[in-house]
Amino acid sequence: MNKFSIAIHGGAGTLLKGQMTDEKEIAYKAALQTAIDAGYEVLKNDGSAVDAVELAVKLLEDSPLFNAGKGSVFTAEGTHEMDAAIMDGETLNAGAVSLITGIKNPVSLAKDVMEKSEHVFLAGAGAMEFAKKNNYDIVTSQYFYDELRYQQWQDIKGSDSFQLDHSVKKDSKFGTVGAVAKDLHGNVAAATSTGGMTNKKWGRVGDSPMIGAGNYANNATCAVSCTGSGEFFIRGVVAYDVSCLMEYKGWSLAEAASEVIHKRVLALGGDGGLIAVDAKGNITMPFNTEGMYRASRTSEGKTEVSIYKEAGSVTE
Ligand code: ASP
Repeated sequence: MNKFSIAIHGGAGTLLKGQMTDEKEIAYKAALQTAIDAGYEVLKNDGSAVDAVELAVKLLEDSPLFNAGKGSVFTAEGTHEMDAAIMDGETLNAGAVSLITGIKNPVSLAKDVMEKSEHVFLAGAGAMEFAKKNNYDIVTSQYFYDELRYQQWQDIKGSDSFQLDHSVKKDSKFGTVGAVAKDLHGNVAAATSTGGMTNKKWGRVGDSPMIGAGNYANNATCAVSCTGSGEFFIRGVVAYDVSCLMEYKGWSLAEAASEVIHKRVLALGGDGGLIAVDAKGNITMPFNTEGMYRASRTSEGKTEVSIYKEAGSVTE
C-alpha cells in the first residue's frame, strides 16, 4: 500500500509543563487529535493532500485554543486580522489571504483564491470583496471574542509593543496553526493560518500567508508549515529554504528542517518551529522553543500528539 501521512501544529513557544493545567493540556491534545484524525480520514478515503490540510486547519481555526480563526488575537485597534495560505505540491498552485476580518475559516478563502481566481495573494479590502463575491458569511467581532486574548491585548494596548502569541507571559496562549500532508498519490500540500501578533498595527503581516516563508509545498521535495517570530521567518524564507536544501543539496527532510530551525533561524535571532512531510511520507517536526503543539499520523499506524520537548520528530 502506498504510504500517506499528515502532521499539524498549533503554534510553538515557551510552553512549559509547569505553566499548563492538566485540564488545559487535555483540551489542547483533544483539539489536536480531532484535527489530525479528520485529516487522516480524508487521506485514508483517497482524498487529496490539499483537502486533508484544509480540513485539519479548519478544525483548528474553529477551536478558541489556537491563534487562528475563532481564537485570533487582538490587533492594536481591537479587531482581528487574519492571514492564511495553502499550497498544492503537485501543481505548485497556491492561494493566500492577509488582513482579512470576519471570516470564520481563512484557510478556505485562501483555497478559493488558489482555485477560483487567477491570483495567488489577496489582501485587505480586496480579499474581503473576493470573499463576498464567493458567498462567504462575514461574522461580527463577537464570534472572535475571547476573554484571555482580550486580557493579553489590554496588557500592552496603547503601547508601541506588539506581542508574539508565543512569547511568554504566564498564561498566554500560543497558536498559529498549520497542516502538511502526503496523500495516496504521492502529492503533498501545506496550509497555515494565523491571527498574527497581539497589538499588531500598520497592516503588519507575518510569514504565515507568504508562500516560501511560512508555507510551501512541492512534490519534488516536501511540504512545510511554520510557526514562530514571523519577521525572522520571512527574512529566512524558511519553508522554501527547507525545500532548497533537499533539492539542491540532496539532504533528507529531517536534516534540512533541523538545519533551518536549529541553525539558520536561530542565527537570525528567530524562534519557532515547523512541521514538514516529504514525498515519501516522512514527517519531521523540529522547533527551537520550549514546546510546540503538534500531532502526526501515518498510514503505518504511528500517531503522536505532543506539546513539550519529548518526542521531537517522527521519521522513517
Ligand atoms: N508566525 C506568525 C506570525 O508571525 C505567528 C505564529 O506563528 O504564531 O504572524
